[in-house]
Amino acid sequence: MPPWLQPFPSDPVLVAAGIAGFAALGSFLGAAQARLGAAIDGEATYAGRSFWSGRSICPSCGATLSIPDLVPVVSWLALKRRCRHCAAAVPSDYAAIEAGSVVAFLLALWIGGPWVTVVARGILGAVLVALVVVDTRRQLLPDALTLPLLPLGLLEAWLAGDLPAAAAGAVFGGGLLWLVQLLYRRLRGREGLGFGDVKLMAAGGAWVGPAGVGPVLLIGALATLAAAGLAHLVGRGPGLTARIAFGPGLALGIFAVTLFA
Ligand SMILES: [Zn+2]
Repeated sequence: MPPWLQPFPSDPVLVAAGIAGFAALGSFLGAAQARLGAAIDGEATYAGRSFWSGRSICPSCGATLSIPDLVPVVSWLALKRRCRHCAAAVPSDYAAIEAGSVVAFLLALWIGGPWVTVVARGILGAVLVALVVVDTRRQLLPDALTLPLLPLGLLEAWLAGDLPAAAAGAVFGGGLLWLVQLLYRRLRGREGLGFGDVKLMAAGGAWVGPAGVGPVLLIGALATLAAAGLAHLVGRGPGLTARIAFGPGLALGIFAVTLFA
């Protein structure tokens, strides 16, 4: 058996290292999604800054953040959810993505399998949590977050010896949603589905295979309807013809089917 197909070791030190690593990944993704979203909105906060590198700054006062400000979740709670420098409220997005990344890793570890699969699924879950946040806030799914999930899924499948199914899933999932998008536009004369959803489903197809595409779409549709219904009940819902973000539902479906199907 090749070394990457060995199960993830149950050594507590390695599990703790995995938790710390995924908390750091969540912290990185939280900063990346905020920068990507702000850039697309044309906000000046991060103008001229790279999406993926550079020191973290407070978007309110511009202060450079250091280690005590940046410990995943812990800093946010310890500093009472405010910037240490200017006391501006820090949104829960960062802590949610950090905690979500760790939960994704622990779920993947609990399901088990080769360590390469556990780590890859953890990364998938972490990126999906970041996508849920950015799509809910801004109704967009940045390519910089959706597209890397496709080669990651294909790579994991190749290492696990299941590349043909992953490739077929990507083509089927992306193609099916692309068709739905084209048909909707033709019939209704407006966009019902963003192209970001098409790309996310192509990437998701690589993780779930062709047989998983239907279940992903079913879970995605039900979750989206449930969320819209709930928002409507509490009086904060969009109108019936408004575009509803489908990304969070799709993300939930992709992760659930990847882990449990
Ligand atoms: Zn500040």
